[in-house]
Amino acid sequence: MKDALIAIDQGTTGTTVLVLDRQLRLLGRSYREIPQHYPQPGWVSHDPESIWSSVLDGCREALENANREASQVAGIGLTNQRETSLFWERSSGRPLGPAIVWQCRRSAEIAERWRNENGDDIYQRTGLVADAYFSASKIAWWLENHPEHREAARNGEIAFGTVDCFLLQRLCGVHRMEISNASRTMLFNLKGHWDETLLDRFGIPAAILPEVVESVGHLGTVKAEWLGCEIPVMGIAGDQQAALFGQACFQPGEGKNTYGTGCFLMMQCGDRPVLSKHKLLSTIAWKIGGKISYGLEGSVFSAGSAVQWLRDGLGLLMKASESEEMARQVESSEGVVFVPAFTGLGAPYWDSQARGALFGVTRGSGRAHVVRAVLESVAFQVRDVVEAMASDLGSRPVRLKVDGGMSANNWLMQFQADQLGVTVERPKVVESTAFGAAALAALGLGWLSRPEELLSLREVDREFAPQTCDPAGYALWKRAVERSLAWL
Ligand code: ADP
Repeated sequence: MKDALIAIDQGTTGTTVLVLDRQLRLLGRSYREIPQHYPQPGWVSHDPESIWSSVLDGCREALENANREASQVAGIGLTNQRETSLFWERSSGRPLGPAIVWQCRRSAEIAERWRNENGDDIYQRTGLVADAYFSASKIAWWLENHPEHREAARNGEIAFGTVDCFLLQRLCGVHRMEISNASRTMLFNLKGHWDETLLDRFGIPAAILPEVVESVGHLGTVKAEWLGCEIPVMGIAGDQQAALFGQACFQPGEGKNTYGTGCFLMMQCGDRPVLSKHKLLSTIAWKIGGKISYGLEGSVFSAGSAVQWLRDGLGLLMKASESEEMARQVESSEGVVFVPAFTGLGAPYWDSQARGALFGVTRGSGRAHVVRAVLESVAFQVRDVVEAMASDLGSRPVRLKVDGGMSANNWLMQFQADQLGVTVERPKVVESTAFGAAALAALGLGWLSRPEELLSLREVDREFAPQTCDPAGYALWKRAVERSLAWL
């Protein structure tokens, strides 16, 4: 009986594969790291073959750990690191070089030129702020630096793909890209099409592009040679979109925040894109049954990394989790404010010249005040993004669903709820990304008849209801940010 599904989460640092049953309960899993390559300062690449082997071997290992055969698997769900760009020879599938990872800055000059020339128009079309982060400038860089491939690219002998597209090519032998992934290329408009004006302007031939498919449905069939029998791919979404789905954020105003190294916030906007006045990204969340849902996105660069810095840089903590107890040791941070602008500030400031700072220190400030100020800074940054989203949407969010390693910190989650004035909800399974891919596939398989059914399969670990909040803390934070901006 086909009573299991596989969810693949091909992330930046590694690949997680889950095997789940019809109720989306975990049967087995695997995790494989993938090597990171830094060929020059600011450049990041992955070997396409190591991405592929981590997925294939990961699927085999997870099945073994779940004690299941491939013949028992009804379908596959896939989620992936977004924007990362690959090129291959269409006839053989042979990669033409390393994958250019989303973090890679090699195309920064090209993106900056575009932003200066047509930034507003690009934003209106794609919802994205022209930056090296997105695929388009990576493609342009690649064509500029490989003149020998330009002709072949125009003739359709070369294929471009994001990671979902590359994996569909390898697994199923089709050149297709899922729509939420396409919406991160900066070549795809919010109406849901490849944008001919942008392709033209950027000098990117349409012949390299894949067919774009919806997020749910029979999106390809995994060849029998890989896992022992054919398996349909039934759901795909980019990682943050998959997490939004996995957190069951289906109503406008429902949002999720992933607390990891940085924070990734996404808010459900419903069936109309919301263009931001606060430098947030507007993006396609998914397309199901012919209907596009849109999201508003904001990223904070430093969150868990600030706690890592307390541990490894300053030696104030032995483990990240100690920060919770230490924050509780004091009544307040007593005026100490920390701005974690280690690498500048992300949304809504977008200032790469900002640098970190500690303000309000007195002779009475101790270790616990500093640790508490660092945790508070994470919540303040999230509040900045949520306030920007609320202003763009014209209403406050109804609830924030959280996940990621740092969401385990109960003190921080309560402080976050107090700051936002909305309930913070933490699910039992904090791997929302992989869970979201599983849920999309379950919908494709008909195991869920509509997305909302996910609400009954998802278990909530804890809710943090907002309590009183002294407005002075956030006001001090805003002052501190002002002084950290444009530091360099
Ligand atoms: P990523 O996926 O970005 O690597 P994770 O979701 O694994 O990140 O989260 C790990 C991050 O969260 C680390 O930066 C760590 O410092 C922080 N972290 C983990 N547990 C806690 C905790 N209980 N309190 C505060 N920070 C924590």
